[in-house]
Amino acid sequence: METLEIELKKVKQRELEILKAIDMRNEQRTIPCACCNIPYAINTLTAVQTRWTTYADGHGNGGDVVDGELQFVCPTTGNINRLLFDNTDVPWIERRQYANNPEDQFTRIYRKLFKEVINASEETEKKKHVNNYYVDAHRAEYGLVEKRQIKPQQ
Ligand SMILES: [Zn+2]
Repeated sequence: METLEIELKKVKQRELEILKAIDMRNEQRTIPCACCNIPYAINTLTAVQTRWTTYADGHGNGGDVVDGELQFVCPTTGNINRLLFDNTDVPWIERRQYANNPEDQFTRIYRKLFKEVINASEETEKKKHVNNYYVDAHRAEYGLVEKRQIKPQQ
């Protein structure tokens, strides 16, 4: 193999190693439960993914199933923590953009690091739900886009 190709192969290998190291760091980050305040490492938690259907064509058919909320089950109480984000400081038209969307960022970076991810079901919906804004209030700790300081003009 030629020198540049060998060099590129090494760089790609190094990239994979760094990505793995990032995941191993991130999966040990903790989130305190909103009911018992105990911080749990992400890789010890069961996540619950809710989904809903959108009907972009407005006719109620051919709807797309999209990810809804990411939640987690408290290992101590069994209560379900809804991981909520307040993104109202970003103008509405910019909120769906990944760079401005802490919820999408959290899901993309962390969902795969939970011990397991289950789909929301009748069983999980029967459990007590608590609102958890911890990650939203500590975005920098999780490497997410930070809140803007100035609210947009209404
Ligand atoms: Zn708890």
